[in-house]
Amino acid sequence: MSITEKYFDVHCHIHDAPEKLCALKDLTTQRLALMGTRPEDWSVVACQAQAHPDRVCSAFGIHPWYAHLYAFSTASEGKEGLGWEKELRAYLEDHPKAIVGEIGMDKVAKDPETGQVYAMSPQLALLHTQLDLAVEYDRPISLHCVRASEELMRLLRDRGPSRLPPRIMLHSFSLSSETLRALLKLPCGPRLYWSISCVVSLRSPKAARWIEMVPRDRLLLESDLHSTDGVDDAMHRVVEQVAEIRGWSTQETMNIAWENSQLFFTVGSEVEG
Ligand SMILES: [Zn+2]
Repeated sequence: MSITEKYFDVHCHIHDAPEKLCALKDLTTQRLALMGTRPEDWSVVACQAQAHPDRVCSAFGIHPWYAHLYAFSTASEGKEGLGWEKELRAYLEDHPKAIVGEIGMDKVAKDPETGQVYAMSPQLALLHTQLDLAVEYDRPISLHCVRASEELMRLLRDRGPSRLPPRIMLHSFSLSSETLRALLKLPCGPRLYWSISCVVSLRSPKAARWIEMVPRDRLLLESDLHSTDGVDDAMHRVVEQVAEIRGWSTQETMNIAWENSQLFFTVGSEVEG
């Protein structure tokens, strides 16, 4: 039986290698979601989404590694310096199908300039502001969370469904199966999606344990790559590995991930049951 290749890469940064973007038209991967990470790359993402409206989904946000440059850790510094927020609003208004991302928190990555792990308070401050915007504009988000399972649980529980976006992608998920189980039990559990990548998620030998537990209608696949090089191969490999872990056929795995992705990127909460 022949296989119809269907790949929806829900999280990548291929615009980081702009000189290779011309290869986009030759990729087998039909749909790609380009994640902005800071105001400087939002225009490149917007430009690609406009050039390839049937293939590229756009996401605008500030990555936790840049939080210290944009967040204020003390209330006395006020909000007048938040020029990025105005800009982000403008991008979301100009791109009604765009989601908010990449946003999140990271307790491992180090600032290359100082050699120190990025501080949590600017990350959390920035994340809350961006979550408020996602709720206000009714957009899904793509969330980066590295070794911050307690903070993630607390944040989702404290904000509650009314202050959370319609759908939440836990991109390149790398937390434990215990965390996955606890997340599913939260009131916002039905809004969570687990996105699997070869580069991060499948590097851990324990990944199979949580991949088995992801609800079938909440599983997504991604390359998480920074250039068009290798995207098809990464999508192919992640499909093969997830298929093997779940005991699904390759075709079934592609179909499930494709349908979930289409639904995820439908902007707004209207599709929620
Ligand atoms: Zn990313």
